[in-house]
Order: sequence, then C-alpha cells, then structure tokens
Amino acid sequence: MDVQTIIQKFQNCKCGKEHTVGIREVAIGSGITKDTGEILKRNGFAPKLVFVADEYTLRAADGVLQSLECAGYILTKRIYGNLRTAEMKEVDAVKELLRDNDGVIAVGTGSIHDTCRLAAAHLQKPLCLFATAASMDGFASYNAPITDNNFKITYAAKTPEVIIADTKILAAAPEELKSAGFGDMVGKYVGLIDWQVSHLLTGEYYCENVANLTRSATDKIMSIADKILSRDESASKEVFKALLLTGIGMAFTKTSRPASGTEHILSHYWECMKLIDGHLSDFHGKKVGVATLLIMEEYEKLAQLEHVKAKKEIPDWADIYQNYGVLADEVKKLNTPDTITDEIEPKQIEENWQTIRKIVQSVPSRAEILSAMKRAGCATTVGEIAVTETLKENGMKYHPYMRRRLSLMRLKNMLE
Ligand SMILES: [Zn+2]
Ligand SMILES: [Zn+2]
Repeated sequence: MDVQTIIQKFQNCKCGKEHTVGIREVAIGSGITKDTGEILKRNGFAPKLVFVADEYTLRAADGVLQSLECAGYILTKRIYGNLRTAEMKEVDAVKELLRDNDGVIAVGTGSIHDTCRLAAAHLQKPLCLFATAASMDGFASYNAPITDNNFKITYAAKTPEVIIADTKILAAAPEELKSAGFGDMVGKYVGLIDWQVSHLLTGEYYCENVANLTRSATDKIMSIADKILSRDESASKEVFKALLLTGIGMAFTKTSRPASGTEHILSHYWECMKLIDGHLSDFHGKKVGVATLLIMEEYEKLAQLEHVKAKKEIPDWADIYQNYGVLADEVKKLNTPDTITDEIEPKQIEENWQTIRKIVQSVPSRAEILSAMKRAGCATTVGEIAVTETLKENGMKYHPYMRRRLSLMRLKNMLE
C-alpha cells in the first residue's frame, strides 16, 4: 500500500491543516514475514533492536525472529505471557531497554504496540509494527491509550515508521480478533456523527476530506461483512487496509476524532470500572462494537424528535464524582473550571436541530449495523462482553464526563 500517494492526495487540503504522517513504508503481502529483516534494513533501522511480543503474537509471527537474525539484527527481547493492557509501568520497562538500543519492533497490534509506541516516542527512536491481527485501528494513530492507576489516558505517542502485515497471518488470526476489528470499524459511524455535531456547535476543527476517508473505509468494511470470518487472505487485507486508513486519518488530524466517538469513551468507561474491581476487559473492538449499537439506539431516538427545546446543562457533579470513585480527581480535572457544554448556548441546538438530525441519518441505521455485525461474528450484547446491566446503565449515564469532548450523548443532557 502506497502511503505516500495517500499523503500526496491530502496536500493543500481546504481545511487548512497540513496533513502529514510519519509512516515510511507499509508492507502488506502474503508470506512476507521472511522479508522482515530486509524491510527494516531498507528503511534504515540500525542493528540493535528491542523486540517486544507476547507468547501468542510470537507464535502467530512464526519466522520473524529468524528473518531479523539472518539480516544481522541483534535483539533484546521482552516476551510477555499475554499482554492484555498497556500499563505505564511496562512503557517504563521498554524505555529502559530502548535506551541502549537503536529502535523497537512491536509484534502485535494492541497493548504491545501501544506500549512500544509511547516508549519509542519518549526516546525518539524508530518503531516497526509487525501486525498479527487486524483487530483494531491504532496502528497509524499518534495517540496511545495507556492505563496508569486504573485510569486510561490517551497520550501523544508516534506512528510506526514501518508497518508489516503478512496476510497469511492476518487470515489465520482467531475469529474473535477478526470480529473485534469489524466492531472497531463500525464505531466510526458514531465518531463521524459526534465530530460533525461538535464542529457545528463548538467550532471544533473538522476536515471533510479526512471524514470522507474514514467514511469510505468504514463503508467498504460493511460491504464485506460476510467474509470477515473466512480465512480468505484478500478479505483480511481489506480489513487491515481499512483499519490502517482510519488510523492515518487520525494521524492526519493529530486527534482521534475521525475514528473515535462517544462509543469509544463508553467502552473506556467499562474498561476502567472493571479494572477498579480487578477485572480485565474484553478486546477493544469487541467492546466498541457493542457500545456502537447502544449509542446508535440513543442517537436514532434523538433524530426522531422533530423539534427540541434546549436548556443549559446542570450536571450533578457530586453524583458524577461519586460514581467515578477513585477516578473522581481525574474526571474533575477535565471539567473544571468549566465543562465542555458551558460554551454552547441552548438556542444553538434549537436552531441547528434539523442539521443534527440529518447528520445522524447520514450513516447506516442501527439495524443495518447490527445485521452486518452479526454476519461478521461480532458480539452484539453487553452479556457477551461481561458487562452487567448496572455497568451498562452507569456507562450510558456517566461516560460523557470522562473526556472533554462534545458528543450527542452529552448534548442530550441539554434537551428538555
Ligand atoms: Zn483537511
Ligand atoms: Zn478503536
């Protein structure tokens, strides 16, 4: 995939922002694991590398170590049992190793990559992502969600200079991960609604071209829902490319807006609350998919209202902070001295209501998304992601306060 051509297309964009991304090469192909060492060499990776994987991703990426060693790379390995969350203490550990090395190769797209991304960004060292599953879209994004003391914060990190994806490996990935990738993609529809609504009411930066990039990648994935579970290499390649493109969209805008809306925040809420209770959450995209269905249900209900009367939001902060418990201080920081809805006048909502309805109606319906998710083998209920009814309801009510971001879920509190 020629990233340079995509970058070219986004030059002199009418939004006024310079769209750049630090990716030098994306190598996608069948059986290219054996070329890993050569791909790194031609991209200028120096010989001493930190190699980070877990037992699952290492097994999936069979042949990657041999390829690197044959190409003369000297590896300092950090192999986890099963790294399910990206923790700040692991970022620090990888940083320690990286100080004496020239770069890092992350084998695995999720927590392993997030950990490496922040470590490499802090030390300004080159990073290669060797993807083992198309399960989420963080590959190209500048942000890395890292958990510290049970609170998940999105840090500015870096994109990998090189991304390698062997379609044989992607096609053989566990079905649960493939469906998770699909779940992460359908969330983009909510993300696009929230971004446009915020742009309309708060004047937040928005780029139509980047939004279109996300939209067409998401539509493409919806169109191949039936093939997601197959071991077909071309379908796996399409999913990977779509996830990559939405990631590039985030890199272009240097925000997660193009690819993540309130459904991602809801998913983060569940994750944080479960962590406080000492429980790990399900895969990122699996949760995001379920969250998307819940949010779309609310959004469609709102879009049915022909007219609205709006008022200033008066949040019950005592109740909100009580709900967040040990995380209350973090949430407070995001909402003091003022909160995101303070800048919106109720009459703006009333005057723009028809436009807001049209924005909601511009994406596929919840029923269409649900049908595609079922065909793609996705989880569609909270029961399937071990989220209780109480946690679901609390999430719906409280999640909009854990980010300083306008969404239609937050705006809902301003309607009579
Ligand atoms: Zn633009
Ligand atoms: Zn995501």
